[in-house]
Amino acid sequence: MLPPSFPENETQRAADLRRLNILDTTAEERFDRIARIAQGYFKVPITLVSLVDTTRQWFKSKQGLEASETPRNISFCGHAILGDDVFLVPDALSDPRFADNPLVTGDPSIRFYAGAPLTSPGGSRVGTLCIIDKRSRTLSEADLAVLRDLADWVEDELARNEREAKESLIVQSMGRLSAIVESSDDAIMSKTLDGIITSWNPGAERLFGYTEDEAINQPMAMLIPPDRGNEESMTLARIAAGVHIDPFETVWMTKSGKLIDISATISPLKDRAGKVIGASNIARDISERKRAEQMKVEFISTVSHELRTPLTSISGALGLIIGGALGEVPLPAREMIAIAHKNSQRLAHLINDLLDIEKIAAGKLHFDMQIQAIRPLIEQALEANQAYGAQRRVTFTATGVVPDVNVQVDSQRMMQVFSNLLSNAAKYSPEGGVVEVEAELNGNRMCISVRDHGLGIPAEFRSRIFQKFAQADSSDTRQKGGTGLGLAITRELVEHMNGSIGFESVEGEGSRFFVELPVWQMPAESEGIASTVANDGPRILVVEDEPDVARLLTLMLTQAGYAVDTAATGAAALRALLHSHYAAITLDLKLPDTNGLALIRQIREQPETAELPIVVVSAAMEEGRLAIKGDFSGIEWMGKPIDQPGLLGVLDRMVSAEGSRLVRVLHVEDDSDLHQVIRAMAGDRFDFVLTTTLKEARVRLVQEQFDVVILDIVLSDGSGLSLVEAVRTHQPTARVVMLTGTDITADAARQVDAVLVKSKISPDQLLAAIHTSIQSFAAHGHHS
Ligand code: ADP
Repeated sequence: MLPPSFPENETQRAADLRRLNILDTTAEERFDRIARIAQGYFKVPITLVSLVDTTRQWFKSKQGLEASETPRNISFCGHAILGDDVFLVPDALSDPRFADNPLVTGDPSIRFYAGAPLTSPGGSRVGTLCIIDKRSRTLSEADLAVLRDLADWVEDELARNEREAKESLIVQSMGRLSAIVESSDDAIMSKTLDGIITSWNPGAERLFGYTEDEAINQPMAMLIPPDRGNEESMTLARIAAGVHIDPFETVWMTKSGKLIDISATISPLKDRAGKVIGASNIARDISERKRAEQMKVEFISTVSHELRTPLTSISGALGLIIGGALGEVPLPAREMIAIAHKNSQRLAHLINDLLDIEKIAAGKLHFDMQIQAIRPLIEQALEANQAYGAQRRVTFTATGVVPDVNVQVDSQRMMQVFSNLLSNAAKYSPEGGVVEVEAELNGNRMCISVRDHGLGIPAEFRSRIFQKFAQADSSDTRQKGGTGLGLAITRELVEHMNGSIGFESVEGEGSRFFVELPVWQMPAESEGIASTVANDGPRILVVEDEPDVARLLTLMLTQAGYAVDTAATGAAALRALLHSHYAAITLDLKLPDTNGLALIRQIREQPETAELPIVVVSAAMEEGRLAIKGDFSGIEWMGKPIDQPGLLGVLDRMVSAEGSRLVRVLHVEDDSDLHQVIRAMAGDRFDFVLTTTLKEARVRLVQEQFDVVILDIVLSDGSGLSLVEAVRTHQPTARVVMLTGTDITADAARQVDAVLVKSKISPDQLLAAIHTSIQSFAAHGHHS
């Protein structure tokens, strides 16, 4: 006897068979009926629908046979599934493969066998439809065709099994899915591409108050509050275009008109062909979270105000005593006061760091990105930190030549970055050490590095150095001061300004921290459009068509603290004058589109610029002077080449205030200790008036004349911001300086001329903020 061999694809075949979900199921009429027809047609005692399992053949239908399965190794069908055609054994007794087969020698005494292989939808032969006789016989071609036809019919029934098995899986998983959707706390909805609601779960009913019946077939836009206008049409347009929409936070409206904070996830729904046919909307109620966030923010801003105000008084007062402003202090007392001063500053630093971290975490950090020349930034950073370095007997120096490029940054945040890096470098430098600052151009990135020759950073600490509260040696905290927050904040700041930060370090030799910022490329200046270099100082318009000269002037002026716009043509200059307010302009007489003298005339004819100080910077200065013959006032003449001290002298003179009259300052502040400290910081060039309430301040503003108004935000009878309008009305020339313990919004900041944060303020900053040098021209201009 020859047992049947296994086909090459046996594993695959077995898997295909299982997928039919048929083995060991009960007999079914749809198979039996085919077997009976075969039995009748071929007039045989036995017909089987046999499935060849791994070790047995099992009969889904058996006509004329008792057994429901027999071993595979003695089966005829095992042979039949090895080929495509009907497997024929006309006379088993004379066939050496089967002559001694127990199914031949014993029951059911097979003599004749014909099996048509059954192919599953998966493509493998899983069994046969076979006819068996107890006497030998043959089949005609026509008979073979009938057997094949019947086998095809069985195959169809098998395919149906597989389909139904699949469908029942789908039904099961749909059932699971719908149970999830039904029980979800989130509102889960779907809509057509026209925004018509097609499904609505109980979560949606709970959240928005509409029942499923009320919502289906209604526009999803009914959930969008009127003031959010086109939110729905915009998301629909993006969905239809197949664009992925990131989850976003928004406000939607319930049936009763109540607004709720929502986190919305909107995703396209596609049909089988991948075509977008609608969208699913998942909305999560985040109002609780928002409330908690709001409370946290309010708490932090209250605490910061409450802590910063007294702290400013303390450190300011101590600073003045140490500075000798109040006379000689005996040595032992001075030492103690120095300690107190240092620690009050440490405390202020800690509060500021904590608040910064909080704001970063909440994504609330405001950046005022301006185009800045890199050199003044570095110089300012070195100067601002020199004193700190000196305390630790460490010198900061700039090495190499700082490239003449601009970057787009928030200068205050940039100062914070430098302060962190420089103070770290000083902290970890040996006494008497030198810290080098270097700026170099690296392709189109500016790389600024701070190098120290200190201890270096232990290798095992390097991966954690930018983490919050990370310190290589926690005993540092007491020894050197610090919180481990500095670098975490620094990295956030740098990355917010589109830069990156990194470091290299050799233990025992020192460290080099570097910040890389993209270089700001001046957009093509084809139409002579004014370009801006920002600074806090008065704004100057440079009218100059020669790009190199324009750059030179810009550089000179920004270094001197002016904000600079440039215009390459007369037309661009006039446009700039129309849109912005300038303290003065420098003018080249030879311009591509107009004659400089004609331009002067046009400028003087406009009432807004009739008295705008003009500095003519021109190679043809003498001719110009002759041509204009003193027709106009307020014009200074400078020849080329440009003499920097001369130019700055002229501008400072033209732009600065009337003279040495005392500057009058109205200080609106309810903390009189702080007032005293501020007054002492400002020194005797100012005539200070203190009011502690808004009411009193309003009266004073109407009756008296002030050059500067310093405002606290939180006052006993309201917000200092509400006073800004009164100042603008009654004292149009006054400069408004906000002195605040809390952070104020960018909008509020724009209304005033300067914002100082309590506890961060130094006498120098204060003087710079209230400096009135722009007054003379501001008197003729308008506040925008
Ligand atoms: P800290 O307020 O403690 O200075 P930072 O985040 O600025 O916090 O720095 C974290 C830690 O990184 C420091 O405590 C110190 O261990 C290490 N570190 C930072 N800068 C330097 C440096 N220039 N040289 C050596 N170690 C440094």
